[in-house]
Amino acid sequence: MSSFKTLDTLADDMAAGGIVLIRADLNVPLDDSGAVRDATRLERLLPSLKKLSQNGFRIGVLSHFGRPKGRRMAEMSLAPIAAALSGLLGQKVTFAGDCIGDAAQEALTSLPKGGICVLENTRFHGGEEADDADFAAELAAPADAYVNDAFSAAHRAHASTHGITKYLPTYCGHAMQAELSALNAALGNPKRPLVAVVGGAKISTKLDLLGNLSTKTDILVIGGGMANTFLAAQGHKVGTSLCEDTMLEIARTIMAEAENKGCTILLPRDAVIAAEFAAGQSREICAAQAVPEDKMILDAGPEAVRDICAAFDKAATLIWNGPLGAFEVEPFDVATNSAAQHAATLTREGQLTSIAGGGDTVAALNHAGAGKDFSYVSTAGGAFLEWLEGKKLPGVSALSHH
Ligand code: AMP
Repeated sequence: MSSFKTLDTLADDMAAGGIVLIRADLNVPLDDSGAVRDATRLERLLPSLKKLSQNGFRIGVLSHFGRPKGRRMAEMSLAPIAAALSGLLGQKVTFAGDCIGDAAQEALTSLPKGGICVLENTRFHGGEEADDADFAAELAAPADAYVNDAFSAAHRAHASTHGITKYLPTYCGHAMQAELSALNAALGNPKRPLVAVVGGAKISTKLDLLGNLSTKTDILVIGGGMANTFLAAQGHKVGTSLCEDTMLEIARTIMAEAENKGCTILLPRDAVIAAEFAAGQSREICAAQAVPEDKMILDAGPEAVRDICAAFDKAATLIWNGPLGAFEVEPFDVATNSAAQHAATLTREGQLTSIAGGGDTVAALNHAGAGKDFSYVSTAGGAFLEWLEGKKLPGVSALSHH
């Protein structure tokens, strides 16, 4: 991390009035009326924008939005997001109808010092996802410097996250810095014991994650539907539960490798079962080895939650990805809620550094009312997971080549 140039360095390097492009992630969910449903990603961008504005730079915001696949599509315009950003900043934010060419050039050069302009969706051009060098040069053309503040897009080598860094001095934004330091605390150089929770539906989508975490953590808690596959791999019957029968051998390999590396895999000792996955079912509990043939596991049981909370009590660092049960449907949210609330309490008390992210995790922790107390909750889905899988992210690597 120390090799990245930050916004403080940019303030020293460039005079007021210089044009800086900041790669943001404005890809926020909208409701049917076109209003921003969750502004978390925009809010995290504000510190960088405010700092750049205070330095008197002219600021162009680059981002993708949706998957227009190189075509101009009105419903994927960033214009409404520019308006939302303006509201959050309490400052005028202009909008340019293209991210390259005359439209971008004119919009940026006509900004006052400290002014901000959102440039239209980078993915309206095929060159973006192709990481095309000519397109990257066109993006860079009006600017004097480039800032990447979009960790959530950093797993993709696209022109606006990667190619552009060949043409402009490159800096790391505040939100990107915060994300990288949280990830470093989680997996780069964690305080031990290090506990990870991996939950969610299937192991087939999380093989690389389980493979990497089982070699790096001290305790790996496996929850959610994927725990069923591990229980089945140990020879237990799991009734009508979600279970990936083709993954049993892989689950056994993960368990063996974890043991070799001194990582304890914690599987649920008991389970909450029901006849079907539907709301309002009665909350029956059974031992994980005694699931009736006609019932399915939909949540971890109270003994399992006690084990998980005891693991958190011993831990200095916690990484969390995925729910412990089918948390969207009551009463199958109890294990996720209880464990998340315990982690939140330990974090508040200063005993635990807790880092969470990926897929449904943010929704699950917020549902538990615990997200706000975690040390860091990543809004990046794929990029967060790829980092936990031990992969190098092109958008992050590109930051240190300058
Ligand atoms: P993922 O996207 O892989 O993190 O999986 C999240 C999904 O897993 C959520 O929608 C949960 O409802 C689901 N899930 C968790 N536990 C179970 C379970 N025991 N049976 C079925 N689905 C589950």
